[in-house]
Amino acid sequence: MFNLPYIQPLFRPPSEWQSLILQVTNGCSYNQCTFCDMYTAPQKKFRAKKREDIAEELKAVAATGVSVQKVFLADGDAMTLPTRRLVEICELIRQYLPSVRRISSYCLPRNVKNKSVAELRTLAELGLTLVYVGCESGDDEVLAGINKGETFESSQAALLKLGEAGIKRSVMILNGMGGVERSHQHAIHSARLMNATQPEFLSTLVVSFPLGMARVVAGFDGRFTPLEVPHLIDEQGWLIGELALECTVFRSDHASNYLVLKGTLGKDKAALLSQIDKARAGLVPLRAEWQRGL
Ligand code: SF4
Repeated sequence: MFNLPYIQPLFRPPSEWQSLILQVTNGCSYNQCTFCDMYTAPQKKFRAKKREDIAEELKAVAATGVSVQKVFLADGDAMTLPTRRLVEICELIRQYLPSVRRISSYCLPRNVKNKSVAELRTLAELGLTLVYVGCESGDDEVLAGINKGETFESSQAALLKLGEAGIKRSVMILNGMGGVERSHQHAIHSARLMNATQPEFLSTLVVSFPLGMARVVAGFDGRFTPLEVPHLIDEQGWLIGELALECTVFRSDHASNYLVLKGTLGKDKAALLSQIDKARAGLVPLRAEWQRGL
């Protein structure tokens, strides 16, 4: 939308397609998950952008006269910045783009470990009211295998802290991330993590390995068998079957998914499970490989 000096590749959640993408950091401060190659190119080495450069970019956007409503702070975990820097960025956004009504970012659980609820609440008051948390799984064996550097406990603590501060949580769980060997426990423990934290949004994506599976297989000591489509759908059924959510928007409509599911949990749980049963019986069309847009 705007011609800003991005360091490519640039990623954003699908729902941020109308947002101004403001690259306040480059890369991911962690960058060690075995399944992820988003920020492995040499130019994506992690660093924070200088305040003056961010201000220049915002000034350039303001000069276009476009009324920006939403801003997404890129790259992989802008929430790793100290609160003081995030406050500064939110204030710059308010100064140059007063029409902005929501600021969002990817967020790793570890990003909020040393931030207090009061600090997070300050950010929420400045407009940073939504974060996308790639939990990937609630199962400790899966999390260790993919080298996520997080656990059920650390993910739960971060999600609860964000919620207490009034920041909405959009959680991603990776369908198939445990392989055949850990599929059931991955689904059940991921559901329990969601039940314990009641995020406002939950989406599932099918894990894919564009650069091969070697690092993932090694992380599981050679014991990792990727799931075939019927098993991916079974896993979705176990996950949704175990979910006890009160008011969470659920989506599995990302390009990676074979079976598109949408609803609000809990009220649509029975309908979603019925869709899964129909898919198992071949009564619901699944996306073909060419339709998955990966
Ligand atoms: S934390 Fe996210 S962006 Fe960083 S390596 Fe892991 S999956 Fe990739």
